[in-house]
Amino acid sequence: MPLIIKDEYPEKLFRDDGKRLDGRDKDELRPIKMEVGVLENADGSAYLEWGNNKIYAAVYGPREVHPHHLAKPDRGILRVFYRMATFSVFERKRPAPGRREKEISMVISDCLKPVLFLELYPGTAFEVYINVLDADGGTRCACITVAALALADAGVPMRSLVTAVAVGKIDGELITDLSGIEDKAGEADLPCAITWFNEELSLLQFDGETDLEEFSKCLGLAKNAFSKIYEIQLDALKKKYIEIQEEYSRGEKK
Ligand code: ADP
Repeated sequence: MPLIIKDEYPEKLFRDDGKRLDGRDKDELRPIKMEVGVLENADGSAYLEWGNNKIYAAVYGPREVHPHHLAKPDRGILRVFYRMATFSVFERKRPAPGRREKEISMVISDCLKPVLFLELYPGTAFEVYINVLDADGGTRCACITVAALALADAGVPMRSLVTAVAVGKIDGELITDLSGIEDKAGEADLPCAITWFNEELSLLQFDGETDLEEFSKCLGLAKNAFSKIYEIQLDALKKKYIEIQEEYSRGEKK
């Protein structure tokens, strides 16, 4: 699957056999792998590979807020730090967090807050550090998905998981899960996320051109994709506990 090499895009985003450039059907997700409990020193963590995206999320909290003036006397706060490594894209990315990273951090935080019981943790902070090691389109959605898993792995009480995916339009066709090339050379990109406890969208962004009918079809594509990704999240969480159970039953853990 090609990463974006410089800013040169192909003229067509579908092959002659009707498949996308990476061989996928229009409604097909890229391969997704998730794992929880991958970092020793964090309260909770998760790792995700989604196509060419490779992302770690680490969670701390509830813990004291630094700097103190950010603390809220009546509730906890959620702080999200989305960062792309300098080597995560073809041209070296400046190491300092730019406007895009600050905006995406805020978007991810707003998206995750509805599932947390922040009102039960006054004066404290939950912190989510997300590092994108390889980026190839849809990183904000992948980050929301892996951050929700890391929060669950940390044992943070949650109303439900959150699952995100981008849908959109390329060469006039509606598609699921845009790759980097499709995101940049396509006509529309619609990242969205669902909070499962109420089945509401906690993220809905839109970049490009479409009409209302296509917009609603895009949401239909997202709905199908959410369920598939959610299953992978649940499997990743269950796998950790099945492994612990097996270690106990073999007497390796006491
Ligand atoms: P998202 O990753 O959520 O789709 P964008 O639409 O802003 O967010 O970015 C699309 C893709 O463009 C990213 O996934 C990444 O592959 C690439 N990209 C983002 N920032 C940079 C950058 N500074 N340099 C090169 N490529 C970038």
